[in-house]
Amino acid sequence: MEIYDIIIQKSFYSALMVFVSFCIFSGMLLSYASIKFKVEIISAVEKIDGLLPQTQCGQCGYPGCRPYAEAIAVGDAINKCPPGGQITINALASFLDMSPPSLDNQYGFSTDIKTVALIREDECIGCTKCIQACPVDAILGAAKQMHTVIKKECTGCDLCIDPCPVDCIDMVSVEKNLSGYKWDQPQSIINSDRARDRFVYQIERKDKELASKSVIRNRRLASSKNDKMTSTTNNLLKEAMKQIEAKKSTPEADHARFLRRVARAKDQLHTAEKKLKELKVLTNDDKYKRAVASVESARIRLAAAQSSDLSKLKLNEHII
Ligand code: SF4
Ligand code: SF4
Ligand code: SF4
Repeated sequence: MEIYDIIIQKSFYSALMVFVSFCIFSGMLLSYASIKFKVEIISAVEKIDGLLPQTQCGQCGYPGCRPYAEAIAVGDAINKCPPGGQITINALASFLDMSPPSLDNQYGFSTDIKTVALIREDECIGCTKCIQACPVDAILGAAKQMHTVIKKECTGCDLCIDPCPVDCIDMVSVEKNLSGYKWDQPQSIINSDRARDRFVYQIERKDKELASKSVIRNRRLASSKNDKMTSTTNNLLKEAMKQIEAKKSTPEADHARFLRRVARAKDQLHTAEKKLKELKVLTNDDKYKRAVASVESARIRLAAAQSSDLSKLKLNEHII
């Protein structure tokens, strides 16, 4: 009986030892494999998003580059991004292993001219509408205070122009350099990551603001005194907006707006022509062809501005 017990005990310890050794060996093997064969997992959406220019302008029909990247990943067309132009389309086509289509011009025209927003600060009434429209939080200001654009953060998306009730924002062309953002190549490191981060931050900020606004609104509903204050404020705001609208729709305001648009279009044509002149020695290359297209686009825009054809202007709003 004793011998039998000893044999059983020995077998048990031996089995335990083998099992423990096996576990230690497997653990070490797995650790080694996870280091040796580590794979950088980047989803297709992230790769596609990395090839888009991060202007966040919405011309593609999506509310930003990331949503368009998600749509492309599930089969949407790759030729809807005017700021990215043919270079981006080629990069996307190469990544998706397909032949590159041309830019679909119903979404806009590609241009080489980099523009940023500029607020005529003495005319700003501090309504904050431009801040709400900016997808990358590139505008600084507070209610009833002068607003200003942080030039180096501005992607030139144009989205702040229409909401401004006094039309005091211009898009001005800037010289292209490394500190200014302009999509050039898919692998470009120029500010595109920063624009993406600011776009994401801006969405998170708005979500938080919405949540805190709803808390405030609930508190207000609970207090009749505050209700009265809200209604007075709303009336005052409505009155102010009525005055702004009346001011905005006078013939003088329309004429001033017309003059500004023509001046802006002339400025952009001048810049495009200057650039083309500088490139003349390098005929027949892609850069030269794009410069010619930019001049042509700027001419169309100037002609539209001069003829006051507002519907055409709207259609060519992106042509700079
Ligand atoms: S740059 Fe504008 S058009 Fe291009 S993907 Fe981004 S949001 Fe869309
Ligand atoms: S300031 Fe205007 S043009 Fe510049 S990124 Fe913001 S919305 Fe776009
Ligand atoms: S929308 Fe126009 S008026 Fe209102 S804060 Fe912006 S720049 Fe000023």
